[in-house]
Amino acid sequence: MAATMTPAQLERFEARLLAERADARQRLAEFDDAMSAVRAARSDATADDEHDPEGPTMTQEWSQRTAVLADVRSELADVERALGRIADGSYGVCGNCGRRIAVARLDARPTAELCIDCARRLG
Ligand SMILES: [Zn+2]
Repeated sequence: MAATMTPAQLERFEARLLAERADARQRLAEFDDAMSAVRAARSDATADDEHDPEGPTMTQEWSQRTAVLADVRSELADVERALGRIADGSYGVCGNCGRRIAVARLDARPTAELCIDCARRLG
């Protein structure tokens, strides 16, 4: 497979992905802490009073946090996959058509797995 970009470009994307991974991991750790707090407060509320008026609010907060957590997890998975592609040399190659993904697109979205044409067609 032909090189998709210069080693310098690849290094730049790798550095960016590593920074994003560190950031996502930190946010995950923070959310885990917050989730534990919500979980603890929630089980207290359930134990104290089944009809606690705070109940629905807690449930809403819970589901919002769960949604955010799922987003961060999927972002982290995207970053891990991109780093894996850097390691195996397939980074920057469209997973659908095998053509190069434009560097400008990767600049905007370093975890992109599809070229812009395929992303438009499949997305
Ligand atoms: Zn493509």
